[in-house]
Amino acid sequence: MLNALQTRILAVVAFLVAVAGLSAGIGWVGYMSALDQLEQRGRSDLALASDRLTGELQRYRELAVLMADHPTVAATVQGRGAGAQDLLRQTADKTGSLDIIVVSAAGGEVASASATGAQRHGGKPYFERAMDGALGTYHQVNDRYGQRTFQFAAPIFSPDGPVAGAVIVVVNVDAVEAVWRGARPTVFFTDELGVAFISNRSELVFMARQEGAAVQGATAEYAPEVLQPFMTYSPIDRRGRTLWTVEDQRYVPAQALHLSLPLPVIQMTGEALLDVAPAQLLARLQAGVAAALCLAFGAMLFLATERRRTLAEANARLESAVERRTAELSRTNADLRHEVGERIATEAQLKKAQSDLVQAGKLSALGQMSAGISHELNQPLMAIRSYAENAETFLERGKADVAGQNLGRIAELARRMGRIIKNLRAFAKQESEGLTDVNLDGVVTAVLEITQARAKADEVTVRWAAPDQPVIVRGGEVRLQQVVLNLVSNAMDAMEGQEAAKEIDIEVAASGARVDLLVRDTGPGLDEPDRIFDPFYTTKLVGQDGAGQNGMGQEGMGQEGMGQEGMGLGLSISYGLVQSFGGMIRGRNHAGGGAEFTVTLDAAPTRKVAA
Ligand code: ADP
Repeated sequence: MLNALQTRILAVVAFLVAVAGLSAGIGWVGYMSALDQLEQRGRSDLALASDRLTGELQRYRELAVLMADHPTVAATVQGRGAGAQDLLRQTADKTGSLDIIVVSAAGGEVASASATGAQRHGGKPYFERAMDGALGTYHQVNDRYGQRTFQFAAPIFSPDGPVAGAVIVVVNVDAVEAVWRGARPTVFFTDELGVAFISNRSELVFMARQEGAAVQGATAEYAPEVLQPFMTYSPIDRRGRTLWTVEDQRYVPAQALHLSLPLPVIQMTGEALLDVAPAQLLARLQAGVAAALCLAFGAMLFLATERRRTLAEANARLESAVERRTAELSRTNADLRHEVGERIATEAQLKKAQSDLVQAGKLSALGQMSAGISHELNQPLMAIRSYAENAETFLERGKADVAGQNLGRIAELARRMGRIIKNLRAFAKQESEGLTDVNLDGVVTAVLEITQARAKADEVTVRWAAPDQPVIVRGGEVRLQQVVLNLVSNAMDAMEGQEAAKEIDIEVAASGARVDLLVRDTGPGLDEPDRIFDPFYTTKLVGQDGAGQNGMGQEGMGQEGMGQEGMGLGLSISYGLVQSFGGMIRGRNHAGGGAEFTVTLDAAPTRKVAA
């Protein structure tokens, strides 16, 4: 994370450095090309200014040459004529010259337009040059006129050849300068002595480039006090150009491009100082625009990259979350499948166990039934045998009356056996008939008969509060017997081995269309009243069913210790049977102790005894 951040910071810094470099380069190139243009313009400006100056001065030069040839002037210099002064004055007025002077070969003034006193010209370089037959040029601060002047001295040739004198035309430099004062660019003309003599900035005039410069030269002359030090500047070379950094000058640009142009015609050098500030401003602007564009572009790029990076990160996070979730789901799915498999297997095992149990139950019922039948019938049979043997003995002894009693007992026992067999047959018979009217008293009496033997053996008191009027309900007789038998057998099972009195109360309560049959015991009560009707719910040992849902009573079965073995099917079968009659069976713990079962049945519409 830190590395990625560092990389980004580095990239940003590198980008900024690159932008700075690029804009500096663009600024430099822009500056150079702006200087190119400035130089071109400056050169033409300087050439123009120089042309104007030389052109202007040229006029006076030519005037001097023309005046030298004038006959009046020639006559005057030779001392032969007069009226030259008028000519000179008129000419000076017309041409705008400051003065026109005719000088003799000796150097003395013969005539002048201004007539302001004589001046010695002998020995002056311009005069000497004229006397040599050439054109003399000179500039100075002329005391006579109190200003800067340019002088052109032209020789006057005598008819026989030698130079007779000279005509000097004096030009007022101020008048020449006046028309272009203040114009741009800053231009000044320096002479051979390095003094700025003419300029469009008056401050620059008389600035001497060299200290202690000679005050007199071949073409110029200055009083030393007139000159002032040249402005302070430091030249810088910019690819063949010279830039000046000028100090303390009000009307001269502080940063300027310096151009120079030699003007041999007037023995001077034209110089121009061009302000580079606009070029610098332009270059800075170009650099600034380039930088701004680059930065804007970079910022956009950076934002786009950031956005893409954020999106990619979010995407990656999402993908990993989806992957994680998918993996979790797959795991859960696999777990679920495994669980489903386990459940299916468990269910199969359960079903198998159930069917095994049912099978076992059936077998045990069969065994119990045969054991029961033989036991039930064996006891009266033994009794019959002993009664018969006794009767035989009594008959031999001639006691016919006692023998008759024994025979009566035999008959009674046979009847009882017949009743038992009848009940067994009834149970064995698969009841397939629909509902009929059943007398409850008959049902309960039959059950009590079957359980009589066990009740006696277990010392259980069974009390049947038989109603005065027969109570007729809708149901199947044998199935109803099966239900009641199961309730009585369960009660006996529950009370088996208990110290307290073992009692079972059976009552009928009829209310309108419904009839309740209640079976209550004094046993320990129900452990879990809510579950007693669940198939296979039992608190007894799982094994042979001690109860009578197989239709067999406990009577005389000789199954001591078997009474507490169950399959948990008795009550659930009873529940189904009662429901099939349209009735209901409930079990609860009685407030006074013990369990109480209520079988609610529909009362038969007629009060006729059906069975
Ligand atoms: P089984 O008799 O084979 O156990 P049943 O369905 O007849 O199966 O009875 C289920 C259970 O209900 C019994 O195991 C017993 O716990 C309980 N039960 C039924 N009748 C009584 C009763 N009168 N007193 C106490 N518990 C009883």
